[in-house]
Amino acid sequence: MPVTLHEVTADYPGGHRALHGISATLPAGAVTALTGPNGSGKSTLLNLLAGTLSPTTGTISYERPCRPAYVVQRSAVPDALPLTVRETVTMGRWAERGHWRRLTRADRAVVDDCLARLGIEDLSHRQLGDLSGGQRQRTLIAQALAQRSPLLLLDEPTAALDAAAQRQITDTLTRIATEDGTTVVHATHHPAEAAAADHTLTLAAGHLC
Ligand code: ADP
Ligand code: MG
Repeated sequence: MPVTLHEVTADYPGGHRALHGISATLPAGAVTALTGPNGSGKSTLLNLLAGTLSPTTGTISYERPCRPAYVVQRSAVPDALPLTVRETVTMGRWAERGHWRRLTRADRAVVDDCLARLGIEDLSHRQLGDLSGGQRQRTLIAQALAQRSPLLLLDEPTAALDAAAQRQITDTLTRIATEDGTTVVHATHHPAEAAAADHTLTLAAGHLC
């Protein structure tokens, strides 16, 4: 599902303008990398796409209503949550099911599929807090994937990971885009990841370069 931004600006309380007149199309079935230095507006743009922040002016058009799946920056998720990998991925089904309802057989099949696609079936009973950074990030991506959203947003998913774990995640994002037709958008500092993406949007001080 392509997403189109037209002349989007975004402000924070106090009047700080974080994005200026952004127009872009994020194609479906492809990976778009958001690059740019710290403070350039990458997270702000992801928050707009996620709907957690509203544009001050301009429009964001989705082809049809959708609830984006969002993997927030690592620092935003506490390490010590007493959850197993499987429980964490299962939470991805709550948005659709409501956590007070029993999961269906189909929900459990989605969870199994997501664990397998991220290569973490063997970890499913491990505690989130006991995992390596790469394993933990794969778990959070599996959780987002379990939402079966046509729009997958990730904020620096490979920050602080070693090169092998980075490559594994980059490859996974490419597969999610090409195999599922998902619109994948991720912020990154790594040139190699930006190069592996189908499209790159580079921000500088809130402007698209
Ligand atoms: P990036 O993700 O590229 O590092 P951000 O989108 O986080 O950039 O930030 C863009 C700009 O908006 C920066 O100048 C930052 O200081 C500012 N900013 C980000 N979040 C807030 C906030 N909650 N309140 C006020 N200003 C913010
Ligand atoms: Mg950021």
